[in-house]
Amino acid sequence: MSSVIDLHSHSTISDGLFTPSELVRRAAAQGVRVLALTDHDDVAGLDEARAVAVEAGIALVNGVEISATWNKRSVHIVGLHIAPAYGPLRDGLAAIRAGRGERAMRIAAELERAGIPGSLEGAYAYAANPGIISRTHFARFLVAKGIVKDTRTVFKKYLVKGKPGYVEHRWADFSDAIGWIRASGGIAVLAHPGRYDLGRTNLGNLIADFKEAGGEAIEVVTGNHTAEQFIQFASFAREFDLLASCGSDFHGVGESYMDLGRLPALPSGCKPVWHDWPEMSPEHVGRKSEAPSAAGAPYTADNAALIRPTY
Ligand code: AMP
Ligand code: MN
Ligand code: MN
Ligand code: MN
Repeated sequence: MSSVIDLHSHSTISDGLFTPSELVRRAAAQGVRVLALTDHDDVAGLDEARAVAVEAGIALVNGVEISATWNKRSVHIVGLHIAPAYGPLRDGLAAIRAGRGERAMRIAAELERAGIPGSLEGAYAYAANPGIISRTHFARFLVAKGIVKDTRTVFKKYLVKGKPGYVEHRWADFSDAIGWIRASGGIAVLAHPGRYDLGRTNLGNLIADFKEAGGEAIEVVTGNHTAEQFIQFASFAREFDLLASCGSDFHGVGESYMDLGRLPALPSGCKPVWHDWPEMSPEHVGRKSEAPSAAGAPYTADNAALIRPTY
């Protein structure tokens, strides 16, 4: 399986394990022709990524993944083709980053109460960019300390709602986040909707609110969805007349289930978010006959075992 388009990935500018240069080189080596770097709440990796993409002959889409709050829940909105220098977007992202620093102190205090001291310094030691201190960095610290065996288990035991290291946090306003993306010339994509643990009705409400606020696409194929969810969200996309996106949400080897360039194709009936992008011209992605699907092998019973959620 190889796919030429991957519209969701992370570097060391947020909680990925590869620098922007390393990430782009790996994507190119895996056969990706169009890559979006979508770091959490920061666009600082885009210039470096673009320079390497030019060298490697692949297209780099300016992206970001904004942490937002919808009905007291945290949801992620990917912006594609954003203008990273656009003032309100920059200011909005800076405000979210400031909130992350303060939240990290509260997470550390909670972990200390649970008998784990020193996690603030510990987490920052794993954050190449201290502006984006995230639960992932706390998780890496706890694993390195031998307190928990892997990052997935840290989340389960400590960092999610109801667990000792979880704190409530207010992210960007949902409509504001969509507005910054759109006003900067970008397309707003609801990231991994299958990960929010919402029932059918609430999912419908989320997607309706997203569309109402100006959102144009949802992730259908992502490393966070099961094969059944590919089908489920393809049908949501059709129901709400939204474009469909695909992205691995790659963070690093051993931490993401799906590697770069290994995505199955969008289910049939989806209108791809890239349907009118110049990057997707046959000249760029390959022979004409290969261009329309732009992704890897369609989902079949044979590759079903390969498709499981990251978490
Ligand atoms: P934060 O933005 O600080 O809340 O951290 C969220 C990040 O943690 C996500 O972008 C994922 O990279 C990671 N994450 C969230 N939930 C899990 C989980 N259950 N297992 C592993 N990583 C997770
Ligand atoms: Mn992440
Ligand atoms: Mn996300
Ligand atoms: Mn992500």
